[in-house]
Amino acid sequence: MATETRTPFEEQRSARPQVRPRTEGWTQAQDTEGRPLLQFASPKRGKPPVHLADLTVEERVEKVKELGLPGFRAKQLSTHYFTHYTSDPAAMTDLPAAQREELVAGMLPPLLTETRRLATDKGDTIKFLWKLHDGALVESVLMRYPGRITLCVSSQAGCGMNCPFCATGQAGLTRNMSTAEIIEQIVRANAAIAAGELGGDPRKGGQDRVDAERVTNIVFMGMGEPLANYKRVVEAVRTMVAPQPHGLGMSARGITVSTVGLVPAIKKLADENLPITFALSLHAPDDELRDELIPVNSRWKADEAIDAAYEYYAKTGRRVSIEYALIKDMNDHAWRADLLAEKLNARGKGWVHVNPIPLNPTPGSVWTSSEPHVQDEFVRRLNAAGVPTTLRDTRGKEIDGACGQLAAADETDV
Ligand code: SF4
Repeated sequence: MATETRTPFEEQRSARPQVRPRTEGWTQAQDTEGRPLLQFASPKRGKPPVHLADLTVEERVEKVKELGLPGFRAKQLSTHYFTHYTSDPAAMTDLPAAQREELVAGMLPPLLTETRRLATDKGDTIKFLWKLHDGALVESVLMRYPGRITLCVSSQAGCGMNCPFCATGQAGLTRNMSTAEIIEQIVRANAAIAAGELGGDPRKGGQDRVDAERVTNIVFMGMGEPLANYKRVVEAVRTMVAPQPHGLGMSARGITVSTVGLVPAIKKLADENLPITFALSLHAPDDELRDELIPVNSRWKADEAIDAAYEYYAKTGRRVSIEYALIKDMNDHAWRADLLAEKLNARGKGWVHVNPIPLNPTPGSVWTSSEPHVQDEFVRRLNAAGVPTTLRDTRGKEIDGACGQLAAADETDV
C-alpha cells in the first residue's frame, strides 16, 4: 500500500491553527455579489478652498495678480508658508499692511483645525486629530527617532478599501484630501517642532550640533489608500521635494508611499521619476488568505501586486519594502514565510526588503500579535532564504486608526 507523503508546506499547515480574518464589532459593507465593497471614486462633496499649495509656481503668481497685487508677492507668501510655516498675516511684515489680510485669505485659507492632540509620556510622539473644512476628521502622527523626525500623514478622509481589521475603512471613503490638505499636515507639524512642542532629545542621533529641526521623513500610512487619491498624492510629493521657497525642500528618499496593492497605480508611480520609497502592504503571500485580509486582492492578486512592486524596483532602481503585520495564527505560519521568500526570490535578488510589523497584543481579538518566538522564526526563515528582513520599530501604536492598524482605534491614548 502506498504511503501518503506530505510536502513540508502541508506538514506545517496542519501543525498550527489557521485563524480567519473577521470584523469585530462591525459589519463589512458588501457589494451586490456579497463581496466586501470597494470604493475607488471619491464621493462628491464640497471641495476644500484652493490654497497656494494646490497651485503650480506660475498659477500662484497668476492668482496673486488676480487679487490685485504684483506677482512677486507669491514668492513672499510661499516663503512664509514653506520656510516659516506660518499662515498668520500678522507675521508677514514684508507684505503691504493694507492688503495682507485679503492676500492671506485668498492664498492661504485655513484647511485644518486642530481638534485634539495626544502625546506620549516623553512627548516624542504626537498624534494630531484634524478637522477639515467640511467637518471630516483625519489624523497625522509625528515621531522623533534618533537622527530623524517622521510624520505619518493621511491622504483621504476615511478609506474605500474596507480591510476587515481597520477602523478607518469601516465608514468607507468620505472624500479624497486635496494636495494642500496633505501638505498642510507637514507645515503644521513643522510649526509645532519649531515651537519646541515635540519632546525627546534632538542630539540622540549622534550629532553634536542641532540645526533648526523639521520633519525629515514622510510615511503615507495615515488614513486612506494613497494610490486611490493618486493625482493629489503625487502633486503633494512634488511639493514636498520642490526646493524652498516654492516647496518644502525635502529629500525624496525620506518619503514612503505605501499601498495595499492598486496595481495600475503602482505602475504609473514607477514612471513618475520620483526617487521615493515604495512599500507594498502585503500581509499574506497566498490569495486564499489575502482575499479575506485585503479585499482589494479580489481585484489584483498577490502575485500581480508583487510583480508590480518588482517592476517599480526594475524601473527606478529603488529597493521596495514589503509590509507584513504579523497576526497570531492568521498569517504568521512558517510556511507563509517560506512561500513569501520563494515568491520574492523568484523575481530576483536584492530588490526588496521585508518589514514584519509587530502588533500590540489584543487579548480576545483575532487581530492580536504573534508570539515573539513565532515572529523571530518568521524573520529568521526569510533572512535564511536570502531576503533581507527586519522587524520594524513601530513606536508603540504609531499607526493606530490608520493603514496597517490591526485593532480598533482607541483615541484615548497614542
Ligand atoms: S488598512 Fe489602509 S487600505 Fe485598508 S481600509 Fe485601512 S486605511 Fe484603507
